[in-house]
Amino acid sequence: MKTNIFLGVLFSMAAVHVFSAEPNIFTYKVGNIEVSTMVENRGQGRSSVLRNPNPAMVQKYLPSGTYASETNTVLVKTPSHIILVDTGFGTTLFANLTSLGVSPGQIDAVLITHSHGDHINGLQKDGKALFPNAKVYVSVQEKDFWLNSNGAAALTPYGNNVETFRPGEIGTQIPDLLPGIKAIAAFGHTPGHTMFMVSSEGKELLIWGDLVHVEDIQIPVPDQSVTYDTNPLAAAEIRKKVFAYAANNTVPIAGLHLRYPAIAFITAGSEGGYTLTPAK
Ligand SMILES: [Zn+2]
Repeated sequence: MKTNIFLGVLFSMAAVHVFSAEPNIFTYKVGNIEVSTMVENRGQGRSSVLRNPNPAMVQKYLPSGTYASETNTVLVKTPSHIILVDTGFGTTLFANLTSLGVSPGQIDAVLITHSHGDHINGLQKDGKALFPNAKVYVSVQEKDFWLNSNGAAALTPYGNNVETFRPGEIGTQIPDLLPGIKAIAAFGHTPGHTMFMVSSEGKELLIWGDLVHVEDIQIPVPDQSVTYDTNPLAAAEIRKKVFAYAANNTVPIAGLHLRYPAIAFITAGSEGGYTLTPAK
């Protein structure tokens, strides 16, 4: 009996420890804008998602053949708007928003990076908009792709509250989509895949969407694409361009499949590779 109680205490301590070691929300300040990455789930992937990998690189960077990754969404609080970037599958997102003191009805805008299920399934349930007061922003190119492939079910409940835009090219002058937010093209993973640059008081942070799925190998080997990239060559080209931009300008990045805190600085290493340093 005594032993059982002792074990029970040990287990509950272990449980608390695991919980505190794996927090789900990380908040980072960009001038007067608050950017919070929210982890929806953590999982393990297999190297079979890599498209035509170099076996020596797989041996070097993914020796176990598996990797840990996450599905994340991002909340951006600007002085004028509460903005959600992607909705994940729509599971723990709502508990995470509650932890940040935000109710779904307070979300003014949902920015969509692309139309895969792990990014849009949280938009609606049973045909009802889960963010009833939000305008949904999606690139023209992605909306066309979306309507032709996955159907429009996720957008339908938003009716006229869907706004399309054309993302600009990284490193060029781009008008704001919303105050402090610019949409930047990263076509390749999908035909309209879009990144969002957050700017305030001379500081920037780039939410790069699904530029990287397997950080263990795609950061050191940016040429490496994955099987679910619609255009793997274009995905690799834009990945290298964005890595160089973020590294040269010391712009922190947020990734929707990067591991917690999912906000990091990227620096150029050897042989065209890069490394990530998590933000603090
Ligand atoms: Zn994804």
